[in-house]
Amino acid sequence: MERLQKILAQAGVASRRKCEEMILAGKVQLNGETVTELGTKADPAVDEITVNGKRIGIEKKLYIVFNKPKGVITSASDPKGRKIVTDYLKGVNERVFPVGRLDYDTEGLLLLTNDGDFAYLLTHPKHHVPKTYLATVKGVPHGTDLDKLKQGVMLEDGMTAPAEVDYYDIAADEKESTIRITIHEGRNRQVRRMFEAINHPVQRLKRISFGELHLGNMKRGLYRHLTPAEIEDLK
Ligand code: URA
Repeated sequence: MERLQKILAQAGVASRRKCEEMILAGKVQLNGETVTELGTKADPAVDEITVNGKRIGIEKKLYIVFNKPKGVITSASDPKGRKIVTDYLKGVNERVFPVGRLDYDTEGLLLLTNDGDFAYLLTHPKHHVPKTYLATVKGVPHGTDLDKLKQGVMLEDGMTAPAEVDYYDIAADEKESTIRITIHEGRNRQVRRMFEAINHPVQRLKRISFGELHLGNMKRGLYRHLTPAEIEDLK
């Protein structure tokens, strides 16, 4: 027997948190009865679980790593008709959702899955999964500026946690430089805002790793399935 929200998340309905909201909103039925108690347990092999009257399926779990090009939106649809990530996942028939987000203008490593528990684990702030970016910024920040990022800078939504930061490349004319930065949080536009705080705005941003997973030489716009060992390493 498992908690209903866990079963729903594992079936790929949504993240566990969203599934809890759906239960509380009376959208989930167990053997024909609406349940609104979050502690309710069920056995997916025996019980009939429906969401808005539709039976949930026991889906195959998919774990995908995608090298997102810039100019692609991470959400499932876009009212403005811009390109979305799933436009690139041609051979994938199941519905997958991104683990966290990348800005429209950010490129690089994006994980996608239909395993709500896995996504929850990796995006929950208390797990502090490290994410590494190459940020090409205007000018060349001083070592003392980078020290500020290492210690934490004050943003509108509070101090950032300590980050690992080092120089990756400096243009010969010093008009721009690329800084490698690893953060352990996932606030909205966090890396861009951190560099704005030291007056070196980001011009290009690429995520090169997420936890133990590295982008390596994967081509832009392509994806692959994770190996069982990679999935275990991320958990
Ligand atoms: N930080 C940002 O500013 N943008 C991203 O897409 C990811 C992290």
